[in-house]
Amino acid sequence: MTTFETPLMRLVARPPIVMSHGSGSWLVDESGRRYLDFVQGWAVNALGHAPAELRAALSEQSGRLLTPSPAFFNRPALELSRLLAQDLQLDQVFFANSGAEANDGALKLARRWAQRHRPGAFKVITTHNGFHGRTLATMAASGKPGWDLVAPPNLPGFVKVDYGDIAALEASIDEETCAVMLEPIQGEAGVIVPPSHYLRDVRRLATEHGVLLIADEIQTGCARTGRLLCCQHDDVRADIVTLGKGLGGGVALGAILATNAAAAFQPGDHGSTFGGNPLATACGLAVWNTIRAPEFLETVAARGRYLRAGLEHLLQRHPHLLQSVRGAGLLWAVELRRPQAVAIQEQCLADGLLINAPRDHVLRLMPQLRVSEAEIDEMLERLGQVLNRAERETRS
Ligand SMILES: *Cc1c(COP(=O)(O)O)cnc(C)c1O
Repeated sequence: MTTFETPLMRLVARPPIVMSHGSGSWLVDESGRRYLDFVQGWAVNALGHAPAELRAALSEQSGRLLTPSPAFFNRPALELSRLLAQDLQLDQVFFANSGAEANDGALKLARRWAQRHRPGAFKVITTHNGFHGRTLATMAASGKPGWDLVAPPNLPGFVKVDYGDIAALEASIDEETCAVMLEPIQGEAGVIVPPSHYLRDVRRLATEHGVLLIADEIQTGCARTGRLLCCQHDDVRADIVTLGKGLGGGVALGAILATNAAAAFQPGDHGSTFGGNPLATACGLAVWNTIRAPEFLETVAARGRYLRAGLEHLLQRHPHLLQSVRGAGLLWAVELRRPQAVAIQEQCLADGLLINAPRDHVLRLMPQLRVSEAEIDEMLERLGQVLNRAERETRS
C-alpha cells in the first residue's frame, strides 16, 4: 500500500484514500469510489453523512451568530441544555468540544464535589480496558493496555478494577474515593456488555458509600443503544453523565450533565472558549430533536434487532472464523476466533465496506442510526463474501 507524504502526524495507519463527501450511509472518496459506512466517524454521525437537519442548522446558524463568547447566553445552548436536562432527568449542563474534554471536566467536577462533601477524597475508580479519552487525565482514567507507558508520570488518583466485577469494585472503595467512572458498555474495548445487574449494583454501591457515579455515555448515549442513554435500560441514573460523539452528529460537541447535588463547580472553576458555542449547539439541537422522538428510538431498536439477527446468521455460517456476537441497539461487535480483525477490515475496505477493528479479535459495527434494512443486508452480504474468502484461505 502506498502512503502519502504529508506533515500530518502519523498517529493511525491511514490508507492512501482521501474522503470527499457522503450521504446517509455512504461515503465517497476523491476518485469517486463509494463505501458503505458502518463506522460513521466512530459512531459520530448519528444521522449519517450530510443529513438535511444538520445542513439546515449549520447554514441557518452560521449566517446568524458563530459565537458571542462564553460570557453571554446564546439561544441554541439554552434550548439544548433545557432538553437534555429534561429528557435525561439531570439538572445542570456544561458544553465541551469533545468527549475527552467532557470527561476531563467530569473528573475535575468529582474532585471539586469531594472537597465540599467528602474531604480528603480524590481517587476515582475506573475499569481495566475502559476508554475515556486522550488528555493526560482521561488517559490515566482509561484502562487501555500500554497507555501508562505513553507519557509518564501518569496523573495519580485512579484505581482500576475489572469491568463487571462488583466485588472488586466494592473492595476498592475507601475514604479517599470520590467517584466511580465507567462506560455502561465498554466501546473501544470491543463492545463489552456487562452482566445484567452490574450497573444497578454499581449505582447502589456508589450511593451506599457516598461516592459519585460518573457514566461515560460518549459512545453509548444519544440513542446508540435504542434509548437516549444506555443506563436508562437499567433505570440507572448516574450523578454525572458525559456525552460526545453522536451529540453533534458530526460537529464537535460534548457535554457534562450533573445532578444539582453533584454540580459543585463555582464560578471560575471551569470553562471553555468554544464550549457551548451556538454553531455547535444548534447542530446538537437538530440531532437531539430528531433522536428524542419515541418513533425514532423504536426504529433504532428494531434495526438493532435486525442487525443482530443478521450477525447471528453469519455466526452460524462461519463457526470456524467467528466466535460470538454482542452489543445493543446499533452498537455491535463480532468476536473472531483468531486475531484477523485488521485483515478482515482491510478486505472489507477493498470491497467498499467500512467496518472497524478495535482489537485484534474484534470487528465493530456502528452504523448511522437511520441505517435501512437494505443497507444492513448489503453490509452482511459484503462482509459474508470477505468471510467466505478468509475461510477458503484458512483451509488451503
Ligand atoms: C470516543 C470516546 C471518548 C473520547 O472522545 P473524544 O471526542 O475522542 O475525545 C471517551 N469515552 C468514550 C466511551 C468514547 O467512546
